[in-house]
Amino acid sequence: MPGEFDLIRRCFQTPTSHTVLGVGDDGAVFAPRPGMQLVVSTDMLVAGRHFLPDADPGLLGWKTAAVNVSDMAAMGAEPRWITLALALPEIDLPWVEAFSRGFRACCEGFGIDWVGGDTTRGPLNLCPTIFGEVPAGQAIRRDGARHGDDIWISGWPGMAALGLAHLRDALELVGEWSACCVERLHRPMPRVALGVSLRGVASAMLDVSDGLLGDLAHILERSDAGALLDESALPLAPLLAACRRTESATSALLSGGDDYELLFCAPREARGQIEALARHIELPLHRIGRILDKPGLWMQRGSGVTEAIAPRGFDHFA
Ligand code: ADP
Ligand code: MG
Repeated sequence: MPGEFDLIRRCFQTPTSHTVLGVGDDGAVFAPRPGMQLVVSTDMLVAGRHFLPDADPGLLGWKTAAVNVSDMAAMGAEPRWITLALALPEIDLPWVEAFSRGFRACCEGFGIDWVGGDTTRGPLNLCPTIFGEVPAGQAIRRDGARHGDDIWISGWPGMAALGLAHLRDALELVGEWSACCVERLHRPMPRVALGVSLRGVASAMLDVSDGLLGDLAHILERSDAGALLDESALPLAPLLAACRRTESATSALLSGGDDYELLFCAPREARGQIEALARHIELPLHRIGRILDKPGLWMQRGSGVTEAIAPRGFDHFA
């Protein structure tokens, strides 16, 4: 069994491309490019809460990095550096190597230098801190939504929740869809290109990790606004094809977490630009509602009736 320092050398010391000093010293040294501001975020994954202790280590490595990269995307930032603090119950070298490969694959895929961390014995816990860059003043915050703005969501939110329900035997998915939904759960794809392209376009943005409605409520709260969603505009089709149950599909779309799609607001005038962007990055962007100046959340039903709805996100302490 390797010791702590062996383990660091074998699994965590990786080449860097834009870092002054990486793993091996008391601290890492790096500098943002001129005119850029640093954006920093930490997102921790705890065994038994965010993943099952017997999760595939390679996929877990990818996801541990990806959920942090997604926070950069949600700010309109380019991810650049990451550190990883981890507690391991024991040194299981094949496990750590596989985890590290998955983590590194995500870092390499998004041009991120892995520059440090901390390794200790304890209940399995994974805690990256990520650093990104954004041109000064251009970070896309949650508090900028304005009356009349459109509300947009990227991709196909809800697929990860269907994948999870399928793995738990709570829902049967149509054959060819099950692998696709489980893949979305295990290998979320952070929407960095979208986030960066929305600088100067989106008025507010976040990544959906706890469910569309619950996360939309964060934007509404920070922006002191309300929202009216259009039921007929919700991107339900693939979810319905996957599970063939309207209620499960709708609840996965509105309340399912773990998709890491971007939810953003933008003024009406930006519609053409956003539609062109969707074609350019080959990612569907759905306009699902609009921002109101009175607080609250409403859904315009297919029938034309408008109903108040409760934001049902996932709250770890509920
Ligand atoms: P110190 O004793 O100064 O706290 P450590 O022994 O904790 O240093 O770590 C030695 C070096 O290894 C540091 O550069 C640290 O950033 C790096 N390191 C430790 N754990 C990890 C990890 N999980 N991922 C990446 N780098 C790590
Ligand atoms: Mg240390």
